[in-house]
Amino acid sequence: MVRGLRPHVEGEGLRAIEVYDPKLGDLDGALHLPVPVKAISRRGKYVLFDLGVRTLVLHLRMSGRLVWAKRKPGGRVRLVLRFPEGGVYFVDPRRLGTAEVVSEFTADLGPEPLGDLAWLPAALQQSRTPLKLWLMDQRKIAGIGNIYAAEILFRSGIAPVRRADSLTRGEVRKLQKAIPAVLEEAIACCGTTLTDGQYRGPQGEIGVFACELAVYGRDGEPCRQCGTPIRRTVLGGRGTFFCPRCQR
Ligand SMILES: [Zn+2]
Repeated sequence: MVRGLRPHVEGEGLRAIEVYDPKLGDLDGALHLPVPVKAISRRGKYVLFDLGVRTLVLHLRMSGRLVWAKRKPGGRVRLVLRFPEGGVYFVDPRRLGTAEVVSEFTADLGPEPLGDLAWLPAALQQSRTPLKLWLMDQRKIAGIGNIYAAEILFRSGIAPVRRADSLTRGEVRKLQKAIPAVLEEAIACCGTTLTDGQYRGPQGEIGVFACELAVYGRDGEPCRQCGTPIRRTVLGGRGTFFCPRCQR
């Protein structure tokens, strides 16, 4: 999403912040608008608009999306960031997303999941948590949600319930490769639009990684690798999909 918005907003003047949902509070009080967006970036699941002295921090949660458009799109628009050429519309039917203007972004987040994961073996050693919950714990590693945790574990051949500290060195190496590989592939596919149709890229793109999903949402369907029916359990309150044969 950030990569798609970048060419439209970086270096452009943010002229106004219009809040349509009082739940979000007053956002432009601390800003002297217009102000140029120095950069847009992502940290974990947060979207950060660097406005110089301040940072606008958005978290989309379960149903939020950012739409780049000239005119107001359909759906529940909670917030608009106005630029000369168009607007970034924060569409959020469930109203769980958050927006904040801060002087410094801070959050209790672990390291980023893309790139070098040399720190991973030592970090896993210190935890008895089931691996799937470990991967989704933003304080341990930032940015991984339910869909991608399931896919990463399938790619690594590791069962979701395995304790983080029980992994062999070979399994840790597989995990180190699978984490960035799955995420980069999903990003290249513009993400994952499920049958609910909710997730879209900033210009309405459908995230075609849904076609690549090996386990997520496929309970009862044959594993693409071995034909065994994919199973679903609940772990930490979240639906958890895995192949009982390929993942040990
Ligand atoms: Zn299998």
